[in-house]
Amino acid sequence: PDVSHFSSLDNKRLIESDKAHYMHGYHAFDEHRQHGSLNITQGDDAYIRDAQGQQYLDAVGGMWCTNIGLAREEMAQAIAEQTRQLAYSNSFCDMANDRAIQLSEKLAELAPGDLDRVFLTTGGSTAVDTAIRLVHYYQNCRGKHEKKQIITRINAYHGSTYLTMSLGGKQADRPEEFDFLTDGIHHLSCPNFYRAPEGVNEAEFLEGLVAEFENKILEIGPERVGAFLAEPIMGSGGVIIPPAGYHRRMWEVCQRHDVLYISDEVVTSFGRLGHFFASEAEFDIQPDIITTAKGLTSGYQPLGACIFSERIWEVIAEPGAGRCFSHGFTYSGHPVACAAALKNIEILEREALLPRAREVGRYFEQRLRTLEDLPIVGEVRARCFMACVEFVADKTTRTLFPEALNIGEWVHLRAQKRGLLVRPIVHLNVMSPALTLTHEQVDFVVDVLRESILETLEDLRAAGHW
Ligand code: PLP
Repeated sequence: PDVSHFSSLDNKRLIESDKAHYMHGYHAFDEHRQHGSLNITQGDDAYIRDAQGQQYLDAVGGMWCTNIGLAREEMAQAIAEQTRQLAYSNSFCDMANDRAIQLSEKLAELAPGDLDRVFLTTGGSTAVDTAIRLVHYYQNCRGKHEKKQIITRINAYHGSTYLTMSLGGKQADRPEEFDFLTDGIHHLSCPNFYRAPEGVNEAEFLEGLVAEFENKILEIGPERVGAFLAEPIMGSGGVIIPPAGYHRRMWEVCQRHDVLYISDEVVTSFGRLGHFFASEAEFDIQPDIITTAKGLTSGYQPLGACIFSERIWEVIAEPGAGRCFSHGFTYSGHPVACAAALKNIEILEREALLPRAREVGRYFEQRLRTLEDLPIVGEVRARCFMACVEFVADKTTRTLFPEALNIGEWVHLRAQKRGLLVRPIVHLNVMSPALTLTHEQVDFVVDVLRESILETLEDLRAAGHW
């Protein structure tokens, strides 16, 4: 639809209404009162358009999720058809629907190894929440009632429910106004080599991380540790790509101590790293549980899944034990969301978007790394279609700009006026564009970032910050 019919009066009213009624995710009260938000009214492939008609290449990909790109007619058709046929059905044990069954079968086929059992959720947080409840349930079924402690990592992000926020380890997500669960949750170091202690090489850094994990298990007692939870590449924590071999080594520690490995692939699945799932394909591990969401429907519908092993199933579903897994959401297995996921997977397969993502992704990585010659670019971290630029005030000492300066926002605003959206997270610009991105669009992203960083430098100098 043409949005030019929105009069400036309508826009003004919407801006006021946004401020008067709409509490956003991560609502920064003072900032929103002052600047409001960018009201997006249209999307097409990798582009979005605001209420003023300004178009942006959305290098953020919505929120790590618009994998096949926006405005796909056949997605609209699939969603409309399913809505006409069956808009909703209860998915508790006595009922099913074709789409939820088909999607579960498909996910079991795509997931590695014996991860053949699927619990459908409403998004990523509820998938991770489900995974933790499943771990507790499983350990109780085995009679290991003490084996419930969960080990996660500093800088991890696993969602915004009370439990998943407590599992996360991002300092910025832990303001003093919020409370967190602390019982039963332990945080290990973030595997960010760029921030490793001086003089430590990558191999030594890796050994330290593995030893820290094993020591933590021994300190708590292996009989009390239920699961290790980790994103293959940390997303919101700053696109942290761990040292080579890290996940395999951590998985081996899990194997030694009968600790379940939960791979949180909410971001890294459905093509973001060039595969349906990255755990085995990229990191050579066979987790016990995988959580996914986002690219599962490419954002066309809210949906997540907790996919777990036949080994866990055999314990919890022991015939004759008379158990019930009393956990389920009204919208678990929602037929319209499942229809969207099935069509999304069909498109990823038919258009061979995963091998394409691997090929263009390599180009994206290479081109982005060219920004490392700029004086405030400390490091570019990029793997396939997950990327970030980290800004520093001093490249030698890797000292950050003061947090209050919000350097990521400086670059973001200068890119935005040039028609590019990147996601500012304090001293970072994070990117996860649609997998349909062309080489020319990659060039546009990198060229605009370079210009925006150079302009930021001039403005920092003029304002006496650099
Ligand atoms: N896990 C990871 C790794 C994520 O990045 C996110 C969201 O960004 C979540 C879980 C939570 O997903 P959702 O926002 O769909 O609840």
